[in-house]
Amino acid sequence: MIDMQIRSRQLSRLKQELIQLRDSPVHDLAVFLSNRPLVKGSVYPLRRKCFKPSCRCARGALHETVVLTASIEGKTRLWTIPEDRIPAVRLQTEAYRRFRRARAVYIQEATHRQEKMLRLIDAILQIRTQQQS
Ligand SMILES: [Zn+2]
Repeated sequence: MIDMQIRSRQLSRLKQELIQLRDSPVHDLAVFLSNRPLVKGSVYPLRRKCFKPSCRCARGALHETVVLTASIEGKTRLWTIPEDRIPAVRLQTEAYRRFRRARAVYIQEATHRQEKMLRLIDAILQIRTQQQS
């Protein structure tokens, strides 16, 4: 029967797609597998006045310190970064952002893959189901 042949071809195509999806790598895991320390937050220079009335900052030459700010458990926290640690902390915050971006991409890809697999599984179910008439 022609109908049977068509269904059988459809079925083998769907099964192939399903296997291909299962075997395709979801994401490059390098970002997750690295041992690099990650620091949450942003690094930026903060200019402010101190409280000495005779200080140069009272005439507009503000003190500049480089700080790290991050939201920890809903609260914004601020740390002064020692001069010699600034480049390292900056790199670590960039690494943290890269990790978060990679995580978002992973979720998107995994969800997309799962949806596609589910559509194939449902199509296979439909073709293979032979209701009694
Ligand atoms: Zn001052």
